[in-house]
This record gives sequence, C-alpha cells and structure tokens, in this order.
Amino acid sequence: MAMVEEIEKYAKENNIPIMQKDGINYLVNFIKTHNIKNVLEIGTAIGYSAIMMCMASEDVKVTSIERDNERYLEAVSNVNKFHLDDRISLIFGDALDLKLDGTYDLIFIDAAKAQNIKFFEKYKFNLKDDGYIITDNMNFHGLVKKPLEEIESKNVRGIVKKIIEYKEFLVTNDSFDTEFLEIGDGIAVSHKEDV
Ligand code: SAH
Ligand code: MG
Repeated sequence: MAMVEEIEKYAKENNIPIMQKDGINYLVNFIKTHNIKNVLEIGTAIGYSAIMMCMASEDVKVTSIERDNERYLEAVSNVNKFHLDDRISLIFGDALDLKLDGTYDLIFIDAAKAQNIKFFEKYKFNLKDDGYIITDNMNFHGLVKKPLEEIESKNVRGIVKKIIEYKEFLVTNDSFDTEFLEIGDGIAVSHKEDV
C-alpha cells in the first residue's frame, strides 16, 4: 500500500479527523496557484495535511502545532517516513499557549472548532501582508445549517454556535476578505486586505 493511503487508513481506523479528499486537494492546489512557501498549521493530528501540503511544491515549508502527545508522536513518525523532517517542523503544545515569531504566507486553522476566533486573533500577527488564513470544518458535517433546536447534544450545539459566531466574525472583519467554499467539510478562505 502506498504511504499516503496507509496514513488515511490509520486515520480512519483510529477516528482521527484528517481533511477530506476534496478539501486537501483544494488546499494543495491553492498552495500551488498562490505560490505559498511558508505555512503555519494549527492542528497537525498525525501529519496528513502537513505532508500533503509539502507535495504541492519542493519549496513549501510547514510549521504545525499539535497538543495531543500520541498524535504528535505519530506525526513525527509519518514525517520521517516521508523524509520531510527538513521541511516540516512539528511543535508539541497548545496553540493557545505558544508564541511564534515567524511570519507565514498561509495559516491553516484545523484544530478545536470552538476556538477559531482565538486562533485567528492570536496568529494573524504571524501572517505576511497579503497572506491568507484558511479554516476547515465550517460546515461541521452539515450541522451548521441545521436548526439549533434539532441538535440534541448540548456539547455539539455549543460547537455549532461557535462556528456560526466565527462565520459572523469573518464576514464583519474589515481587515480580511473571506470566501466560504462548499468543499470538503466547508472551507473559509480569508485574504488579508491591503491597508
Ligand atoms: N490537519 C489535520 C487534522 C487535524 S484534526 C489533517 O487534516 O491531517 C485536529 C487536531 O487539532 C487534533 O489532533 C487536536 O488534538 C488538535 N488541536 C485541537 N486544539 C488544539 C490546540 N489548541 N492546540 C494544538 N492542537 C490542537
Ligand atoms: Mg478539519
């Protein structure tokens, strides 16, 4: 079995929410067409999207943060299998506690769905002028479009509310121009406006 498929299989068997196929294809293509060189990813899981993003071009470098130790270690092992340790820098920690100095062409937010505003507000300072912030899971498996009272779990309802709040935050954000795409689990592409 090819190595990429092995990671996909591992993710499926262990319930690890890696990006859906069309979502990852969009992201890889976006990196190519926008000439992205440096990516910051929040939410590595087992390194699937980080590895795929590196396949967009030889010049792509990814820094990725993961707070779950088991997943982080699996990501380290996967990155090594692909000999990408010189291009992918994995950080073990909570993205809300860290402070990074680097600046990036693209920030990909794919972590705790209820924390998106916090990730955005914290890491926008690490974005280059003219950079992009892409956020995954804007549809949350279709739940975001469902009437809230039809969602039984209080916990899930809470997350849905947070995603709706985040959408509103993006729509009303004067410094960024956001497009919402019906790809994968819903993707938001936010472009930093020239000031
Ligand atoms: N981008 C990956 C999937 C990430 S799944 C891929 O497509 O291959 C989301 C991950 O974000 C989970 O592994 C979770 O542990 C991590 N995460 C959630 N909140 C986080 C935080 N505050 N800091 C770092 N990692 C976080
Ligand atoms: Mg996701």
